[in-house]
Amino acid sequence: MRFRFRLDIKRAILVLMTITVLILIAVKIGEQDQQEELPPETYITIVNKDGENEKIELERFVMGVVAAEMPASFEDEALKAQAIAARTYILSHCEPYGQPRHGEAAVCCDSTHCQAYVDELELRVRWGENYDKYYAKIADAVLATRGEILFWQDTIAETPFCSTCGGRTENAEACWGQALPYLVAVDCDYCGHSPKFSSYQRFTLAEAASLLATDIDKLYSMQVEAYTPGDRINTLSIDGTLYKGTELRTKLSLNSAAFNWLIIGDNIVFTTIGYGHGVGMCQYGADGMAKRGYDYREILQQYYPGTIIHKDET
Ligand SMILES: [Zn+2]
Ligand SMILES: [Zn+2]
Repeated sequence: MRFRFRLDIKRAILVLMTITVLILIAVKIGEQDQQEELPPETYITIVNKDGENEKIELERFVMGVVAAEMPASFEDEALKAQAIAARTYILSHCEPYGQPRHGEAAVCCDSTHCQAYVDELELRVRWGENYDKYYAKIADAVLATRGEILFWQDTIAETPFCSTCGGRTENAEACWGQALPYLVAVDCDYCGHSPKFSSYQRFTLAEAASLLATDIDKLYSMQVEAYTPGDRINTLSIDGTLYKGTELRTKLSLNSAAFNWLIIGDNIVFTTIGYGHGVGMCQYGADGMAKRGYDYREILQQYYPGTIIHKDET
């Protein structure tokens, strides 16, 4: 009897083990089915902050870029438009759309060279107790537009953007010399809520003359010669010498090339409208459009007119 009993237990254990294995296999197959339903992940190579090449999933990288480039408090549709602008720029430096900028790596994380990007650790510090809320918001915007990029006809588009256009965006050639049919000045009635919509910058005449490498007396002769299609200063002259508006902007660190000035006593006060170069998407404008009920497609159409949204299938 004792022997039979032991045998039964052995059989029971064997049956149980078989059932467990079968369940595990079934779960595994189920997981695989689920995974197959998700879109394939795209990995790209970037140069990280430590200067090393790093493989990173594209959409995860886009999340860090959107977080770096646009306040997380902005409207969802504005964040989606920003996600597409960012993804388009990144993929324009990946095969088959274009050439990487750093050997094998598509882009670096230096905002002055390629692409501003913040990683998870920095975001935790920046957002503190809002981390979960903001990260979920940005992840939703990025994943809602997964794989979507902007095209002009059959080529990938260039997607510059700036903080605040101040009422009208700018033609690309007025800023960088190269014209593109979809980077043209358009009116923007949506960025009035930007804290940088207008500002003042004050210099002593001596400071301004030094920064412009001219004499104080000559500052009194400064006058606008021509405006750009986006109502910024194209050229101005100081005592017969021509300057580009963008050149003066850089030399004086003005918020934009849409400026005016007044000499009061020993000071020269510059009034600027908007913040940034003005070409392409106005970020506060995108937020303002979203507040008025426009979706990300309409936002992109406003600031990159004539482009089409294309789904990356690589
Ligand atoms: Zn770079
Ligand atoms: Zn604007």
